[in-house]
Order: sequence, then C-alpha cells, then structure tokens
Amino acid sequence: TSKFASVENAPPIEVFALNKAYVDDTFPQKVNLGVGAYRTDEGKPWVLPVVRQMEQQLAADETLNKEYLPVLGYEPLASAATSMLLGSDSPSLKEGRATGIQCLSGTGALRVGAEFLARIGKHTVVYSSNPTWGNHSLVFLNAGFETYRSYRYWDAAKKALDFDGLMEDLRNAPANSVILLHACAHNPTGVDPTQDQWKQIADLIEERGLFPFFDSAYQGFASGDLDRDAWAVRYFDSRGFEMVCAQSFAKNFGLYNERVGNLTFVAKDRAVIEPVRSQITLLVRANYSNPPNHGARIVGTVLNNPALTEQWKGHIKTMADRIISMRHGLRERLEKMETPGTWNHITDQIGMFSFTGLGPLAVDKLIAEHHIYLLKGGRINMCGLNTNNIDYVAKCIHEVVT
Ligand code: PMP
Repeated sequence: TSKFASVENAPPIEVFALNKAYVDDTFPQKVNLGVGAYRTDEGKPWVLPVVRQMEQQLAADETLNKEYLPVLGYEPLASAATSMLLGSDSPSLKEGRATGIQCLSGTGALRVGAEFLARIGKHTVVYSSNPTWGNHSLVFLNAGFETYRSYRYWDAAKKALDFDGLMEDLRNAPANSVILLHACAHNPTGVDPTQDQWKQIADLIEERGLFPFFDSAYQGFASGDLDRDAWAVRYFDSRGFEMVCAQSFAKNFGLYNERVGNLTFVAKDRAVIEPVRSQITLLVRANYSNPPNHGARIVGTVLNNPALTEQWKGHIKTMADRIISMRHGLRERLEKMETPGTWNHITDQIGMFSFTGLGPLAVDKLIAEHHIYLLKGGRINMCGLNTNNIDYVAKCIHEVVT
C-alpha cells in the first residue's frame, strides 16, 4: 500500500471549480461571471498593447540573457512599483525608510510579507475582512500565523460597509495583530471605506498598536486613476506608520500568469531596511531562490519610461471605464424592470467585482437554470458582462429574485 493512502481529498477551490463547470457547460448563451480576469466587450481576454510591444522588444534584444535575477528581484521593477504605490511625495521614500522586493504576484508578496512577520515573532494573529478574498486565510496560516480572525465588513441588510462593526472588532483585537486591509476595490464586495473612515481606522490601528498590511491588487483598475486608488496607503504613509503592502500587477497590467508583484516595506527608521532585506533574502532563498524575469522586465520597463507609462494609463482607463459602464447598464436594466430590491449598490461599488446581494438560492438558480456562473456569496465579475449578454443576465437576475 502507498505511504499516502491516508491522504484525503482537499476541498475544491470554489473559483476554479466554478470555472471548470462553466467550461464544461455546452449551453450557447452561458455567461462566466466567476473568475477575476478582465474581458473585452467581445468577451475575450486582453493582452494590453503596451505589453505586446514590450514583448516584441524584449524578444529582439540580443543583449538580454537568461541569467538569474537577484534574490530580491529586478530592482527597476521593485523601485518603480514602490514609487507607484507610495507616490512621489512619499515621506518614507524620501527618507529612505521604504523599500520594494519583487515577489510572485500579489499572492507571493502576501506570503513573503506574512512569513517575515510570523518569523520575527511578535505577530501571531491576523485579521481580514468578512468577507475577503478566499486565499487570505490560507496564505497567512501557511506562512506561520497561529490564528486567523475576521473583522466585520459587509452589512448584508444595507448592502454597504458595516463600519461600526469593523471598528468594534479592531478595537478588540490584541496588540500587534496584523490587520489586512484592501487598498482599494475591496474583493469581493466592491465597497471601500470613505476617506474619513480610513482616518478613523488609522487612528484606531495606531491607538491599539496593530500592524497594517495592505493588499493592493487593483491599483488603477478601480477608478482608472493610479493616485486616487492609492489614497489609503499614502494616507497611512503620510502619518508615519510602519506597514507592508503586497502589490499585484496581474489585473492592472493584464499579466495574470506572469506573476509580477512587489512587496513594499515601510519602516519608521531607515536603519532597519538593510537587516530586513537581508532576512527576507534568506526567506526567499529557501523558498524559490529568485523570481522570474519576463513579466518583471515588462512592468519595470514601462514604469520607468514616461511615454510607455502614459500609454499604459490609457489601457487602465479603458478597462476601468468599461467596467463602470457595465455597472450602469446592469443597474439601469434591473431598475427599469422593477426587479425587487434596490440596485444602487451596483454603481456605488468599485473595481472588478460587484457583491450583488443575491442569496444562495438565487445563485443556484442562475447557475443551474440560466447557465450564469457566479460565486456562492453573490459576487459577480463585472468584466464578464458585455453588450451582448447584459440583457440576458439582467433578465435572468430579474427572474430568480421575482
Ligand atoms: N489580493 C486580492 C484581494 C485579489 O483579489 C487578488 C487577485 N485575485 C490577489 C490578492 C492576488 O492575485 P495574484 O497573486 O494573481 O496577483
């Protein structure tokens, strides 16, 4: 018998299982509102033109080779990503108290950040929002955190942020707890705190001695504006917090499978930067030794070239605007049909996802009877909607809630 005979099947990952069900479905009008990736109005994946252009340039450049990158990655990427996040006026950048480390997309940056925090010992409890991206608990627990807890976030009755609940839960968190915060375009709800609420969150984190860990997977993708989407992180920076932030370039560069990410680390004192980098070097060395080059060079080259950056900003705007127009289109259709309930939350929410407020029964019906695939919690990927399927989706939502 096998040594592994006692290994049990792990539970399926919801979003991938849903995607498989969609792919296997033969219904011609099927709609995929599950997995979080951008689609054009033709329902196709989009390789950004500036990315194509860079790939051609890289392929033709015979001075490039396949030598290893340094353990902490391609420096032009890490420094540009850090500046893109913290902004040109960042006090920590100016004072040399901030540093960037190339990681394996957003997930890899979360993992390296979490493992570092777990290893230095003080941090054993992590809090994330309820609900949150399905991978947060897995990443932090696997990285060595002992306890994963949630803070209240979504008020299902109001279809809005449960700010009082959030504050109460953070107030009760033990000192040194790591507080995961979505930098913008909260996944899955699409609801972010207001600037005033962010200020109150920052006050509380400071007062209670908690540690902010931002997850920035959608900078630029939410509003179409890189600076606006970085407001919360920059606000914490302006107040002199120590923090880390995991950045993903999967969505805003459309580089999902290239695994381009960055971990930004901000300290109160520049003297700690080198020791921290040296410890993270060992941690990465034992993990995957060094990160891949291809996507990092694309992003690093674009972000270090003003003309290419402008071109890229245009692409982000195209994606953000299409999402926003789908939000308006869906809300308009539901309101016109007088579908029971209120639908303003669809346009109030921001980013790739909308938390529709559809309950499990409605979700089951959409999948089973109408071949419209969405997560059990009622999250839809707005990019799955387009001018060809939006009428069908609106009509089916109307049917399942009426
Ligand atoms: N955090 C959040 C909130 C996300 O939605 C995602 C993407 N689904 C990620 C992190 C990381 O994704 P990736 O590892 O592909 O960059």
